[in-house]
Amino acid sequence: MTYKRPVGTQDIVPGVVEEWQYVESIFRAMADDYGYGEIRTPIFEDTDLFLRSVGQETDIVRKEMYTFEDRGGRSLTLRAEGTAPAVRAYLENNLWNQDRERVVKLYYVAPIFRYDRPQAGRYRQHHQLGLEVLGSPRPEVDAEIITFAWNFFQRLGLQGVQVLLNSVGCPLCTPAYVQKLTAVMQESLGDLCADCQTRIQTNPLRVLDCKLCQDYVARAPRLADELCGECDDHLVAVQATLNLLAVPCTLDHTIVRGLDYYTKTAFEFRVEGIGAQASIGGGGRYDGLVEQCGGKPTPGVGIGIGLERVLLARRHAGIEFGADQRDGTFVVALGDGAWNEALKLCYELRAAGIRSDVDYRRRSLKAQLRLADSERYVSAAILGDDEIARGVVSLKNMVDGEQTEVSRSELIVRLS
Ligand SMILES: [Zn+2]
Ligand SMILES: [Zn+2]
Repeated sequence: MTYKRPVGTQDIVPGVVEEWQYVESIFRAMADDYGYGEIRTPIFEDTDLFLRSVGQETDIVRKEMYTFEDRGGRSLTLRAEGTAPAVRAYLENNLWNQDRERVVKLYYVAPIFRYDRPQAGRYRQHHQLGLEVLGSPRPEVDAEIITFAWNFFQRLGLQGVQVLLNSVGCPLCTPAYVQKLTAVMQESLGDLCADCQTRIQTNPLRVLDCKLCQDYVARAPRLADELCGECDDHLVAVQATLNLLAVPCTLDHTIVRGLDYYTKTAFEFRVEGIGAQASIGGGGRYDGLVEQCGGKPTPGVGIGIGLERVLLARRHAGIEFGADQRDGTFVVALGDGAWNEALKLCYELRAAGIRSDVDYRRRSLKAQLRLADSERYVSAAILGDDEIARGVVSLKNMVDGEQTEVSRSELIVRLS
């Protein structure tokens, strides 16, 4: 009997995990610099939370959620997206009433579960780096989140990232637009793809970002032309702030995002060469969501960045992670007499915060050095009877092969 991991998942093993850690560490450090605090929510939530926030007619709720009944008969769903759990936790933990004027800035690094068709960079368990800001209606906050992501992608060496910006309006202006859109689309209903023939009834805005129906979308009225004064001002102000901060962005009226809760700003980051959609992140404003989840009316805006997509984009850009990175000191024991001292030295190095290991198979000098090299150590500390008697180690540089004698008492200072 052999077991395989479930379809659409992956194991992230040593040798691969280092780049994940690196990307996450940049994200965490930036979140700290921008004043965001980390939030960790459960991996599953009441199914109802996603139904009510994401929307019954979205792809996520209709066909992608991992929903199950627990032994107590409750319907639970694995985290299907990051915003609704963050908003639920924001309300449940009273983050909102500690200070009336307080803007709450949260970040998360979390797995997301969706029963999607597996394809390049898309997984049924994928990981998102997310930001949420609650409590401010200001367009500068939308711009902050977009600028954060832009700077993050720059730091990761991604070139040619596109920032696509749109507004999906608000309850004052979107319904009238949806009526117009539906009327125009009804005329060519027979020509739309099968999904859009349903969407036009259930979730008409989604027709706008359908890849198959772009010919018809081009003829449709644009939401950006139908916005109310407030939504229009907001969009203009987001653009102006991005301009001020030197973040290039393009208006794209097909950016609607798939979720019901978005209002006003919707945006997406794309990069060439990683598949048809090429999206590496996206988000928007959700001014009605907190109220929908049972709180007082509270504006919010957020982004989710796909970690696997970012890693894929780095690979496509030819960025090799850690190809020449070495770290630590491997301890080589010459003969069984030196073994105990070698073992003690290895633990001393580890206690001093220096990566270290020994060859438990106690093989030849050559085999031990080969292991030190393949495990990418910077140096090898060689200990034989002679070195032990004189209180020294032979320190071999694994890059250029140069060997020097260092007194045992100075070794850690020298390596730190
Ligand atoms: Zn509006
Ligand atoms: Zn379509």
